[in-house]
Amino acid sequence: MKTKLKEDVDIRRTFAIISHPDAGKTTITEKLLLFGGAIRNAGTVKGKKSGQFAKSDWMEIEKQRGISVTSSVMQFDYEGKRVNILDTPGHEDFSEDTYRTLMAVDAAVMVIDTAKGIEAQTKKLFQVCRMRGIPIFTFMNKLDRDGREPLDLLEELEEVLEIDSYPMNWPIGMGKGLEGIYDIFHHRIELYHPEKYDGERFVSLNEAGEIEGDHALAQDSIYGQVLEEVELVKEAGNQFDEEMVAAGKMTPVFFGSALTNFGVQTFLETFLTFAPKPSDHETQEGQKVSPYEEDFSGFVFKIQANMNPAHRDRIAFVRICSGEFTRGMDIILQRTGKKIKLANVTQFMADTRENVENAVAGDIIGLYDTGNYQIGDTIYTGKLNIAYQELPQFTPELFMKVTAKNVLKQKSFHKGMAQLVQEGAIQLYRTFHTGDYIIGAVGQLQFEVFQHRMLNEYHTEVIMTAMGNKTARWIDPEDLDEKMSSSRNILVKDRFDQPLFLFENQFAMRWFADKYPDVELKSLL
Ligand code: GDP
Repeated sequence: MKTKLKEDVDIRRTFAIISHPDAGKTTITEKLLLFGGAIRNAGTVKGKKSGQFAKSDWMEIEKQRGISVTSSVMQFDYEGKRVNILDTPGHEDFSEDTYRTLMAVDAAVMVIDTAKGIEAQTKKLFQVCRMRGIPIFTFMNKLDRDGREPLDLLEELEEVLEIDSYPMNWPIGMGKGLEGIYDIFHHRIELYHPEKYDGERFVSLNEAGEIEGDHALAQDSIYGQVLEEVELVKEAGNQFDEEMVAAGKMTPVFFGSALTNFGVQTFLETFLTFAPKPSDHETQEGQKVSPYEEDFSGFVFKIQANMNPAHRDRIAFVRICSGEFTRGMDIILQRTGKKIKLANVTQFMADTRENVENAVAGDIIGLYDTGNYQIGDTIYTGKLNIAYQELPQFTPELFMKVTAKNVLKQKSFHKGMAQLVQEGAIQLYRTFHTGDYIIGAVGQLQFEVFQHRMLNEYHTEVIMTAMGNKTARWIDPEDLDEKMSSSRNILVKDRFDQPLFLFENQFAMRWFADKYPDVELKSLL
């Protein structure tokens, strides 16, 4: 094993920030990038809000929505660590890609608005992280505003997400009354208004966990209250357990305010202490590939189309699982056995796209693609000859009927459809008897991208008719009786010819389950 490679890999920390829209993901990301020196100005992360991001000629739809590939992966150095943050878009940008991005990270940070608690999208994204068993760190945001009681928020984590929590710190007040955080983990108090006291940001605590001597804060009634709360949490709450954290069974919880940059640096430093370095990845045969393995390998977890409409190119995002990438190296694409030279490869910084010279396990690189790669593809060098585990499929919730506008375009319609489905851009279903096309997605944006790409890449105008939200459930083909189909569900086949029902709503699904108790209804993730 090359020691240089090991050293390089060991400093990598690759994670995603998950949250419900408006919880503060962009704001905290920006603060992290500022600490890392990766950006100079706030407002660089998402053009949507600042309008600063018209850097290139990516597909129109991206421009309109302000999604940019540079904000998909952000890299910076902090205190000897090389940090890779992968963006998981929220809002209407939410798509299967968002979920798949979580397949490429080693940890997740969950940002929660203290006034709102756990919201729908946080829960969905959390469940994907949970399935992977990766460590999850929680940042309770917007402490500068009045929010819910800290104990109440921790309880919600345990009840709704079923994860143990450990408060790394505890708020001293909230909103206008915010004085600081009692840092249980570092055994100190971090002041929100240092200038109000003696100017020092941190106040150390004695053995008993109290401020030594006479400090103005100690006179405040909130201080006494916090000491009591902390005491209670320490006695009745969970013990900090590093192994549980590593296994994703306990989430360390940090309170802070991203907007006012309070508690963010402490969070970053503590997070980097516990966030895992890259570890083994398992192949389909169950073989474990070490990140220190000298041969390069990785898998494609996301394909972003049409960065440049003039060239119709795409970028395939690869998570490197082992070894080192060097410019110009030849790799084998496992699915086809084809040898490909990696000449045009991108790495991502917060405000530029740069040509990457080398990258190691843990890093994400973007390969310019003219149609070679598919979601889930493994690439490798040397004798590795491996295929990493397939990426999971996610149960779509939104559906559309699709036809080609011009009947003479059937051929390109089918070709485009097949290609985009293979790429993982959209899910395809056919109605059982008539074979009508129905496409499914987890987020609305997927439909728009689909429509745009059909037109631009396959010169086919598609007509899409919204069917709205449906609950998709697969059943065993042997259980299928076509009489089960009713006005409340649609019987369709997926692209592997497996039957499933698209139920109008949860109610229709429960009605079905009651009527056919022996038929197992299965969902994907
Ligand atoms: P995202 O949708 O999760 O990326 O959320 P943003 O980072 O865009 O934040 C949503 C809104 O909440 C913006 O108006 C932010 O300025 C605001 N915000 C973010 N963090 C805080 C915070 O700590 N305190 C307060 N008061 N507002 C915040």
